[in-house]
Amino acid sequence: MASPLNLILLGPPGAGKGTQAERLREDFPIQCLSTGQILRAAVADGTELGKQAKQHMDAGGLVPDELVNGVVLERLTSMEDGFLLDGFPRNRAQAEALEQALADHDRKVTAALLIEVPEEELVKRISGRRMCKEGHTYHVDTDPPKHADRCDVDGLPLFQRDDDEEGVVRERLRTYERETSPLVDFYDDRGLLRRFDGTRSPTEVHDHLRAAVATLRLEDEL
Ligand code: AMP
Repeated sequence: MASPLNLILLGPPGAGKGTQAERLREDFPIQCLSTGQILRAAVADGTELGKQAKQHMDAGGLVPDELVNGVVLERLTSMEDGFLLDGFPRNRAQAEALEQALADHDRKVTAALLIEVPEEELVKRISGRRMCKEGHTYHVDTDPPKHADRCDVDGLPLFQRDDDEEGVVRERLRTYERETSPLVDFYDDRGLLRRFDGTRSPTEVHDHLRAAVATLRLEDEL
């Protein structure tokens, strides 16, 4: 029996991590966890976590590790069939906490899939991004919904995320450079990094990711 794939999607905001996670979930028996989505739901529900997270999200910074790690690591270790993480880890401390939590269960990260897109392109993409509250995402120019302002999947209204406003986007990109981009070397040093050209169409990026994940599954069975 193949062991579970424990995968991380890495890349700056707007690289297409959420879109690709959704597609890969349809290809493989893998559970996806998006920390951004969990935090947005907590904000919408007005929970204690949401109240504490909101100020950091609105400012384009990171929510403190002690709030995020608990939420993520608890869920992960119960995901016996493997997982695909979108938005976690986002700094070295989170990456080390993940490594430790998995090691405690005799597991480890299988690969970190990095989607690369230059910064100018990211700002353009994010400003046209729209989503429903279930996290299905669209772009007004490049990936519009079939019916204006409605999600194709569930018919829910589409909206723009508060933190997709340009000033916040620029701060989120700075946060990525400072906090998250060092994880590229972190996973490369461990031989776990796979790079993908995120400037290609969502379908092409998906094809490349799907092929890479299929190969990882095969390698695991050998
Ligand atoms: P995302 O949907 O992944 O772009 O995340 C939206 C926002 O949620 C980020 O800008 C952060 O403020 C917060 N967030 C998401 N994941 C994390 C994480 N792993 N650590 C800290 N903050 C996070």
